[in-house]
Amino acid sequence: MLMCRLSGARRAFILASVLVLLLFESIASAIIRPPAATNGFRTDRIIVKLSPSANASLLESALNSSGCKSRAAYPSLGNLHVIELPSGVSAEAGLRLIRRLPGVEYAEPDYVLQAARVPNEPRYADGSLYHLFNWGQLGGTVDCDIDAAEGWDLAFDATSVIVSVLDTGTRVTHEDLTANLWRNPGEIAGNGLDDDNNGYIDDVHGINAMNDSGDLTDTFGHGTHVAGILGAVGNNGIGVVGTAWNARIMTCKFLDNQLQGSLSDALECIEYSRVNGARIINASWGGTTTNVFGAQALYDAINSLRQHGIIFVAAAGNFSLNNDAIPRFYPASFDLDNIVSVAATTRDDDIAHFSDYGLNTVDLGAPGYIVLSTWAGHDSSYALDDGTSMAAPQVAAACALAWAKYPGSTYQQIIARVLAGTDPIPALAGKCKTGGRLNLHKVLSQPDPAPHSAPRVIVLGMESGKFRYRVEGVPNGSFHLQTSLDGKSWTPGTTFQMPPSGHLDFDDFMSNGAKLYRAVKTAP
Ligand code: CA
Ligand code: CA
Ligand code: CA
Repeated sequence: MLMCRLSGARRAFILASVLVLLLFESIASAIIRPPAATNGFRTDRIIVKLSPSANASLLESALNSSGCKSRAAYPSLGNLHVIELPSGVSAEAGLRLIRRLPGVEYAEPDYVLQAARVPNEPRYADGSLYHLFNWGQLGGTVDCDIDAAEGWDLAFDATSVIVSVLDTGTRVTHEDLTANLWRNPGEIAGNGLDDDNNGYIDDVHGINAMNDSGDLTDTFGHGTHVAGILGAVGNNGIGVVGTAWNARIMTCKFLDNQLQGSLSDALECIEYSRVNGARIINASWGGTTTNVFGAQALYDAINSLRQHGIIFVAAAGNFSLNNDAIPRFYPASFDLDNIVSVAATTRDDDIAHFSDYGLNTVDLGAPGYIVLSTWAGHDSSYALDDGTSMAAPQVAAACALAWAKYPGSTYQQIIARVLAGTDPIPALAGKCKTGGRLNLHKVLSQPDPAPHSAPRVIVLGMESGKFRYRVEGVPNGSFHLQTSLDGKSWTPGTTFQMPPSGHLDFDDFMSNGAKLYRAVKTAP
């Protein structure tokens, strides 16, 4: 039996090696061209999804023998792998090669993604924060705002919920941000060492996926602006105020000075955010797709985040496109229940002229036209900017405040609460699912959802290097806690009795969040 298996594996390995050699021979004779300038995708990497039954080490040997290198593997993000191509092999040739290897479900280019900022819009140095509180300043319309002041009566502290901003970096020393940044508990700042042994030196507030370091320097300002809208320090007497006054903002940098970044670096940021306990990811960026889909790997990664209960807030895009049609902006337009797609409105509750929309693909609006926030020039920099980029972090902050106030909620319940917390406005009628603009007060004053009769497991987040889960259900009822690695085959599970509180928390030290849990009611 054992021998049979060994010889089978050996046969497959030889077959794979021969296949690689044959393919590279034909590529070498047909297509060798110098790396082209970036044109929609990176020329040096491709993204591969392995089928669940694939032998990853076998594939790795096959890749190595052909000069390709596995740069990163994400078994928890849809089994995606980032492959580095040898010099002289084009991305097109690499894709053709790798698509034919056994165990490869698909391979796609490492697409370039772009920040959802609108350049060269007229600015008004008015210093007002109309998106939070609009009293008609500068010709705006009273109450065309997210009712932040009223919302803050209910909640302004979201420090229990880590929000990760995937962007151009953050000015971590900014006077109005530094107190609200996430801090990696295992990392000692500035000692040049990777103290927590996670592959990144001095990743104190997050990572730079472009050079695999902890250097978050924002040389543009976009990421710092987004972070400030989300959570500039409230009530400190300086600068501006975020949608959440107190927050824990993780920074994952993957966009460069041109506001562009690659899919592979975005995946690295998503994985870092997940492993380090982020509950919400803000994506003020995306790509335009001319087919139905966009990047399959990004879809699969965000789909995998559902199993970890992570909300993905995405800018709807700035091309005045109807995202229900094609071309469309992604990831905002992916049909996944953990994505919240946000359009931009103005100080008069119009839809911003640049904003994408879509009755089926966009969820809600938030002010995104001439928004004041922190900037990256120096520690007291502030600037106005425009885009659905600016609208998204208000919704991310609303999710964080809601989760801080209702920690037992699932990601579906938080999103439902935020979508129910909108003001209908005529400009958005028929243009997005809710037809409304965010209203923080409504979000935070929705009644708490009734506890479910069937027990269920939710992810509470990560504390001190371990994942914390909560089982909710009817008090004193009993349930089996089952585990699975693929979501298909489940262990029979141990029986527990639900405490009178109706919830039971437990930690997972070992599986790095890769294990799935579910609670099944025992037969009466
Ligand atoms: Ca580290
Ligand atoms: Ca260190
Ligand atoms: Ca402030």
